[in-house]
Order: sequence, then structure tokens, then C-alpha cells
Amino acid sequence: MARYAPAKKSLGQNFLTDRRIVARIIGAAELTDNDAVLEIGPGRGVLTRDLAARAGSLTAVELDDDLAAALTAEFSAQPHVRIVHADAREVEIASVIPSHAPYKLIANLPYYAALPIVRRFLEAERKPTLMVVMVQREVARSMTAAPGGMSLLSVATQIYGKPRIVASVPPRAFRPAPKVTSAVVRIDVFSQPALSHDSIDDFFTLVRAGFSAPRKQIHNCLQKGLSIPRMDAETMLSHAGIDASRRPQTLSVAEWGSLYAAWRLRYPDTDANAQGLRED
Ligand code: SAM
Repeated sequence: MARYAPAKKSLGQNFLTDRRIVARIIGAAELTDNDAVLEIGPGRGVLTRDLAARAGSLTAVELDDDLAAALTAEFSAQPHVRIVHADAREVEIASVIPSHAPYKLIANLPYYAALPIVRRFLEAERKPTLMVVMVQREVARSMTAAPGGMSLLSVATQIYGKPRIVASVPPRAFRPAPKVTSAVVRIDVFSQPALSHDSIDDFFTLVRAGFSAPRKQIHNCLQKGLSIPRMDAETMLSHAGIDASRRPQTLSVAEWGSLYAAWRLRYPDTDANAQGLRED
């Protein structure tokens, strides 16, 4: 058995030790030997070994110098496995997934960087077809929330795919044990996102404004967040078929889409959108 340096807290190193959870993650990914897999943060290789045994090809991106070196040595005789020593928040995606073939992203993510990593790959031009990721349970709940409990993160996930929680994972499944409960989330990524790439930034300007005061009624949030007159906020909501007195967390992703269309109708000019102003 390899001897490893102590876990580094600063890199979110909570290593999975429960084989049943490894099996749940692998099962949720529905791997075949045609699959190209990208693993983020392979660590001591507990998932990596199973992924290497089942997938057609595997690229694993690890930031830790010692772990990247140990894994490179361990997998050197397996040509379908590539260990990349890099930061997953910055690595060029085309260089880790070089072909245009579809790929699946599978990871027990470091908590400190889980959201930037998920976001980066969901927003990428080359998105995975499927993500199976371990994150903090609270984050998983927010990603998968239904109208009534929606947040900016719910919208930011569900605009790109259909997420569901596959397993809840207690701290004792890891060494060292984290302080919080974790969860495995599977996201079936849409082949066509609900919005065009060009509209995404504007769309999130609207959604961020909508969630600027989650306890307030949606017309208030829009008015304040977009700096627009009350009348405009109400007209947009009426066009989108949304009652102005609802709270932002009750809106579905489809309703945010309708509201976005109504906003574009009222403020068609992008610069005006940025400022929330238009002179008639
Ligand atoms: N996959 C292993 C497991 O399940 O036991 C390790 C998971 S551990 C929660 C997270 C791993 O991500 C660690 O190996 C850590 O060094 C690595 N890591 C942390 N930040 C990273 C980053 N920005 N890019 C790539 N890997 C990172």
C-alpha cells in the first residue's frame, strides 16, 4: 500500500474511504467502455482506479504536486489514462479533452472550489454530457431545488441540465472526516442549453437582480436590482404571466426564461440592460 503525505486541508483533501459510495458514484455515471471520462481531483485514486477499469479513456486533473506525481507513476503502464498536473479552475478544457467526442465529468470535488469548477464546466463551450459530483449536501440541495426553494445556484444549474441527488454521504465516509454532510449529484447536461451563449450574461444580470432581496416580492427585487421604475417591473412580470407579489424563490427556470424575454422586449438594447435604463 502506498504511503501518502498527510491530507492538505487547504486543498480540500477529504479522501473517500467507503467503497459503497465509490460504487454509487460509478453506478450513477453508467459507464461503458466507449466513454471518455474527466476526473477532477483524483487524490489518492480511490475513484480513479475504478474509472480506469471501466471507461474507454480517462483524464484526471490533480492540483497537488505529490499526488499528481504518485498517480502518474501508478498509471504509467495504462495508456488510456492520463494524469494532468493542473488547477481545474484554470486548465484549458480543450487540452484535457482534446477530441470532440462527448465526455463525462466525475469527481469528488474539493469543497472550496466545487462551485467554480461545476460552473466552469457547465458554462464551457465543450460541456460534459453528464456530471456526477460529490459536493456539500447544502450545495446539492440548492442545485436541485424546486420552485418554492429556488436560489441563484438552482437557476444557474438547471438552465444547463437536470440535476438530482443520487446519495447523501455522511462525514464518516471520508478520511479525514469533513465537518459537514456531503451528497452525490448527477446532472444530465442538456445538449442544447435553454438560452444561447450570447444571452447568458444578460440572463444572469436579471436573475441576480431578481434574487437581490429573496424575502421581498419579485417586483420590488427587479425594481431595485435593475434600477427600473416600478411600472416597468410590473409590466415585465405581467408579460411573463408572473404575479408581481410572488417571491423570487418560487419562480421556475421556465418562468425566469419568460421574464428574460419580457425584459428584452422592454429593454432591447444591451447597454440599456446593463444600466437598467431606457429613455422613451
Ligand atoms: N477523488 C479523491 C477521493 O475521492 O478520495 C480525492 C477527493 S478530495 C475531496 C479533492 C481532491 O481535489 C484532492 O486530491 C485535491 O488535492 C484536489 N484538488 C483541490 N483543488 C483542486 C483544483 N483546483 N484542481 C484540481 N484538483 C484539485
